[in-house]
Formats: sequence, C-alpha cells, structure tokens
Amino acid sequence: MPRRTPAEEQAASSPVRRDSPSTFPPLSDILVFQKDEVLARVAKVRGWLVEVSSRDIELEFQTSVRFPEDDHLVFGMDALNGETQYAEINIDNFYRSSSGKVRVVGHSAGVVQDILNQPLHAPYLCPKTHTFRFAHPESLLRQLCGLGIVEEAFLDRVEVCPNCSGLPTFRPGCQHCGSPRTTLDRLIHHFACGYVGFVSEFEDAGRIICPKCRTKDLVVGADFEYIDGAHRCFDCAQHFEKPERIGHCLGCDFRFPAQQADLHDLMGFRPKRLDILAFSPAS
Ligand SMILES: [Zn+2]
Ligand SMILES: [Zn+2]
Ligand SMILES: [Zn+2]
Repeated sequence: MPRRTPAEEQAASSPVRRDSPSTFPPLSDILVFQKDEVLARVAKVRGWLVEVSSRDIELEFQTSVRFPEDDHLVFGMDALNGETQYAEINIDNFYRSSSGKVRVVGHSAGVVQDILNQPLHAPYLCPKTHTFRFAHPESLLRQLCGLGIVEEAFLDRVEVCPNCSGLPTFRPGCQHCGSPRTTLDRLIHHFACGYVGFVSEFEDAGRIICPKCRTKDLVVGADFEYIDGAHRCFDCAQHFEKPERIGHCLGCDFRFPAQQADLHDLMGFRPKRLDILAFSPAS
C-alpha cells in the first residue's frame, strides 16, 4: 500500500471531503497532450493533486482511463481569483491505488509548461524577414488560447508593409515617385519693383541684385523678403506643395505612401500558470 502523505492523512480524517484524497482543491480541467501534438480535453474525469515535491507531482483520478507513459498531461485548478490556472507534467508512470483510483506520477515538463513558465509571449521582430514572429509556433499559442490556457493581450498597433507585413521605415519624400531627394525652392520678393524669382536669379558674386530692375546690394527685410516656393523632386522633377510620409519596407524593399501601410495589432499571449510548487510542503 502506498504511504499516505500528510495531505492524505488530513483528507482521510476530514468529514467534509471523504471522497477526496487531497486537501488541495480538485482539478477543474484535464487535457492530454498526445503524440500528434494535439491537446485534447479529457471529458468528465474527477481528479486531485495529491502530492507535490521538488521532483514529482502525483495526481489521482476517479477513472479507468489509461494515461500512456511519456505522454503529457495538462491540468487546471481554480485559483482564488476564479481563474483556472494550468500546469503540465510528463507522465513517468501510473498505477491503480488501493481504493481503485488511478494514480499518475510525473514531473513538471513539456512544451506547454515551457510556455506557461514565461509571463508573456510577445512577438519579436525577425531579423531576416523584418516581420513579427513568436518564439513558439503561433498555431500552438492560438490552440492554447482556444483551450483557455493562455489569454490574448493587446500590446500595440503598428504600421506594416502592405505587401509583406514587414516593418517599414518612414521619411518625408516626393509624393510622385517616393524619392527623399527633394528641395524647397526659396524665392525672393523685391519690394520696390515687385519682382519674385528664385534666389539663384538674384545671387551674383556674393551680392543680391534684382534681375528685373538691376538694383544692387539689396538688404533683407528693408528691400526684399524670402518666400517659400514649391517643393521640387530631384529625381522626377515634379513640383508639389508638401513632402509626404513615404514608407520603405525593410523586408521586401517596397516603397509606398504611408497612408497605404497596413495597421497591424500586435497581440501577445499571457499564460495562466499554476504555481505548482506552492503545494509542495517544502515551500
Ligand atoms: Zn519624385
Ligand atoms: Zn527689382
Ligand atoms: Zn514588404
């Protein structure tokens, strides 16, 4: 007969929970991680956490289901805040207890536990494609999300390339060809004769001379003023009123007006982790 833990002793002597081998709350959710890497819910199985040590985790189930060795089991328990929190064990062995229930012994391990052990799974920028990726397969994170083991969390909203969802850089540029090689043409207005022309027309060996009325040594403020002209593109020679924000994708080199960028919500996944060691007598 397996030795009784202090929790079992306490449960055995308790009049209120005679059917429970444990002083811990019952398991509220049980899933098996099968060989084909699919997590499936085990229907209507009552189970309890009976013992936790730094090495082993022992569970008991009121069931005849056989849990194959080396498979993984994910179980949930309801926390005080009402949230179901999860832990994963790698099944080392199982046996039938003297009371006819199935005991499963395992240790904390597995890909789900790896995911549970991180407080947040946020997308990172892949240095090769310049797109946002997750360290774990997103399909698995989404599957865990569907099962309630992790929850989705909104992190940020970013502008990405409309072609490949890569991260762009932005610069002011020509609205016709996207080139950043633009200039603002400055004009001079000569008050006395009313002539307006490019600065280059007035410059003459370091002196400012009106090309129309030939007045020399004009003084800014007193004789003339500078006026902003149009922006001009060195590459396509088009004139325009204002440069536009131009995106350039770091992933696929696509250049596009910024308003054509796709808005992408950066979502993270927050695991609902069960602190299993809190049930260990050593803690
Ligand atoms: Zn241009
Ligand atoms: Zn003039
Ligand atoms: Zn792109």
